[in-house]
Amino acid sequence: MTVIGLDDTDSRDRGMCTTYVADSVARRLAAAGAAVERVLLVRCNPAVEYKTRGNAALAVHTDADASTAADVASKVVEAAAETADDRTNPGVVVGDGRPGAVPDQVVEFSRVAVTDHHTRENARRVAEAATYRLETWKNGRGVIGALAALGAWAAFDEWTYEHIAYRSPDRWGTARDVDGDSVFAAADAAYPSVWDTVDRGNGETVCVPRTPGPVLYGVRGDDPSECRAAAARIEGEAVDRARTFLTNQGTDAHLLDGDVPNAADGRSYRLDGTVASSPDSREGGHVFFGLADGSSRIRCVAFEPTKRFREHVRRLRVGDEVTVCGEVAAGTLKLEKFAVRGLCRVEAVTPTCPDCGRTMESAGSGQGYRCRDCGTAADGRVQRPLERTLQVGWYEVPPRARRHVAKPLVRGGFDAPVHPER
Ligand code: ATP
Repeated sequence: MTVIGLDDTDSRDRGMCTTYVADSVARRLAAAGAAVERVLLVRCNPAVEYKTRGNAALAVHTDADASTAADVASKVVEAAAETADDRTNPGVVVGDGRPGAVPDQVVEFSRVAVTDHHTRENARRVAEAATYRLETWKNGRGVIGALAALGAWAAFDEWTYEHIAYRSPDRWGTARDVDGDSVFAAADAAYPSVWDTVDRGNGETVCVPRTPGPVLYGVRGDDPSECRAAAARIEGEAVDRARTFLTNQGTDAHLLDGDVPNAADGRSYRLDGTVASSPDSREGGHVFFGLADGSSRIRCVAFEPTKRFREHVRRLRVGDEVTVCGEVAAGTLKLEKFAVRGLCRVEAVTPTCPDCGRTMESAGSGQGYRCRDCGTAADGRVQRPLERTLQVGWYEVPPRARRHVAKPLVRGGFDAPVHPER
């Protein structure tokens, strides 16, 4: 067996998509008589600054010999990669041997690529130690994702599927002709095995990209045949070609179990803590709150594009115990989901006068409260029951705002009740 890792062939403005390049490599190998066992679509650390969009890297598992595989991959990348874009720096890594039996260093490299950061030098060192064939273009940054994809089959246990349909090349860059009603009907028929096809709350067909590349739509789910069946129900322009990828999308592979004091920029975490400041809606519609763990604090934010998710965040109260998930950037955790572990059911308020019922006033620093009219006094603030509409359990951003690698609640396996968005 041979594993081909590929990355960094596409451009935000000029188009292309590394999934299309991998599909082209697989087709070329099949046309030459080789078997292609599977093609992996691996999402690396979403916090990496060099990414074009979703930080995807691809791996092709084939029975072609390593030299044929390297030759085919090199020719396809050379012809397809958008290297005129400064930010496109392709890399191809080819390894001889079974995909599940790569060296430990490569397995570790893949795990770190999804949760943390690597340098090009480190990728080269690990690839060379494993005696892999390497080819790079321009600054060759793609070697990082290519090596990560090569080791992914051994590094990860959880795989989902995405069935991607591609447009005919003469239509790339033009408006996509996809019948929205048929997408909603396909999504309804296949849910919950197929997820994140549409955003019902916002009436959006999230499986149809808006960028200029070759993808017509991508249907994601837990079962490959259900993804294909849902795709077959979508009406629109002719599909030029299609492939079902195995992927770490929808698995939360990027999340590290961390703690507030040690959460660092550029990684994504699950963090436990207590809501320490009330949710605050700011200009632009973003909602912020503070999370505390002992004396350490971190700011959490639900951005405007997360739409209705912000309503759940706004209903948090100081004292609630939560687990938050998301990427930390500039000291702020960008919420992907959160779990309410314990709801604060009381709040501290200024006491009211037992005689006249009016709110008391402060009697001065450290001197409690007093009713100016009746002369009654209270030592301090009093606790009042708090009506809560949030429930214990997990809340998530809607499909339109989902990160590729983030696990939708509908997939199950969470440690508390779930409130899935669809
Ligand atoms: P698309 O989703 O449209 O395919 P993309 O978002 O995958 O595009 P790339 O063009 O692949 O973006 O760019 C990501 C770059 O970051 C690649 O060069 C890849 O090698 C590199 N990279 C991936 N993971 C890491 C990491 N953990 N640390 C450092 N660099 C990384």
